[in-house]
Order: sequence, then structure tokens, then C-alpha cells
Amino acid sequence: MVVETFNSKQTFELGKKIGEKASPGQIFCLEGDLGVGKTVFTQGFALGIGISEPVNSPTFTIVQEYDEGRLPLYHFDLYRIADISELDEIGYEEYFYSDGLCLVEWGNLFREIFPEHTIRISISKELEKGFDYRKIIIEGNVDL
Ligand code: ADP
Ligand code: MG
Repeated sequence: MVVETFNSKQTFELGKKIGEKASPGQIFCLEGDLGVGKTVFTQGFALGIGISEPVNSPTFTIVQEYDEGRLPLYHFDLYRIADISELDEIGYEEYFYSDGLCLVEWGNLFREIFPEHTIRISISKELEKGFDYRKIIIEGNVDL
């Protein structure tokens, strides 16, 4: 499925809609370059599951946990991970195979660690369509 957004609010709203319908154990691999909107999507998603505290890229912690919503949210950012052993150290499998929800920014850097049921969300710009245009490709079993 392809969704086009023309400003950050629309990407936020898409995340929110998917968050509202998210079900236990879902894992989302968020792909795309720096500044495409992975965190914006995540912020909408978080609100969709009922998290009102601010959500930012967990750049220095690998994973940030939010327990305020109707399901636990585990927000990862793999951008600074050099080696898969760093993920083993934090016990990523506990999260990936939990009944909570995982959103993984830069998941494409470690595609091999994702389970079969992963939902892939790839965001890209197309500058000829405007600075705020984003093409969002959603692959996998997701309710909208
Ligand atoms: P990432 O986490 O992918 O590095 P961020 O979500 O932190 O990116 O930042 C995306 C930036 O792009 C924000 O400043 C946001 O306002 C801007 N932006 C402009 N248009 C869009 C859009 N259509 N969707 C998402 N973000 C957008
Ligand atoms: Mg980010």
C-alpha cells in the first residue's frame, strides 16, 4: 500500500490511525533517510495508542519504553548501532517477541533480525513533488 503525504501533520495522522488499530505483538520496521519523518510517524502512532508524553528519537539509549498507552510501546533507533552484539546486550528479542508494540527506526540496517510478521514502513522524499512531500510504502498486515 502506498500513502502520499504533503506535510508532517498528515504523516503524524497516518501514524495515529495505525496506532489506534495496532494489536499486541506487532513490530514496525521504519525505513528511510535522516529527516524523512520516521519520528513524526512514531509520535502520531504513540498518540494513537494513548501515550501523551513527548516521544523523540531514542538516539542515545537504543530503546525507549512507554507504558502509558493501552499497550507498551518500545521505540528503537538503530542508527548508531555498529554491531548486532549491541542489540543482543539489551536483549532485543524480549521486545521483538513481546505482546507490546515495537517501532524500529533505521530497522533496515539490521533487516535480518526482524520476525516474519514485521510490518515494513518505508518513507522517502521526491523533491520534484515539493519539499514536504513523502511517499510512504506500507508492506505487511496492518489495519488502517
Ligand atoms: P527521521 O526520524 O526520519 O529522521 P523526523 O521525523 O525527525 O525524521 O523529521 C522529519 C522532518 O521533516 C520534520 O522536521 C518534519 O516537520 C519534516 N516534514 C516535512 N514534511 C513532512 C511529511 N510529509 N511527513 C513527515 N515529516 C515531514
Ligand atoms: Mg528519528
